[in-house]
Amino acid sequence: MTEEPCQCSDCQRFYKEHDRLIREFPTFKQQQELNWASIQSFRTLCSKVIDELQRNLSENQTKENTISEENHLSDIEINEALDELENVNAYLFSIEALMERILDIKVSKNIELKFKEVSKEIAPDPLNVDRLILNRLFHQTPDMPDKKNSN
Ligand SMILES: [Zn+2]
Repeated sequence: MTEEPCQCSDCQRFYKEHDRLIREFPTFKQQQELNWASIQSFRTLCSKVIDELQRNLSENQTKENTISEENHLSDIEINEALDELENVNAYLFSIEALMERILDIKVSKNIELKFKEVSKEIAPDPLNVDRLILNRLFHQTPDMPDKKNSN
């Protein structure tokens, strides 16, 4: 019934990161804050890049004939990226709305202790079933860039 955990570099990276987030943020409140900050930072960064790309696009259009060497982004590339990033921001906005509902929930001190207790149990376990289920998404992305040589 239990599947053998995949040991490809993407999965191993995911296991490490997953456990780190449990170890370093072992309470309900910390997980709320972490996930909120994570969604917000993702959205902030995407928004800034969208602004920047739109600026590039309008600059390209105003100085049609001056092709500088620094200008390595084509209009097609920019337009495609804008479409995709705008979709991403719409999804993030939806997640944010759901996250607000989660942020409304508070748990008692005793329940927080239970969170800490459970976090110690599951974080060092490389065969954590929940983590394996979560990682399906990561693993099944075939064109995910290989980051094993970066730091
Ligand atoms: Zn894998």
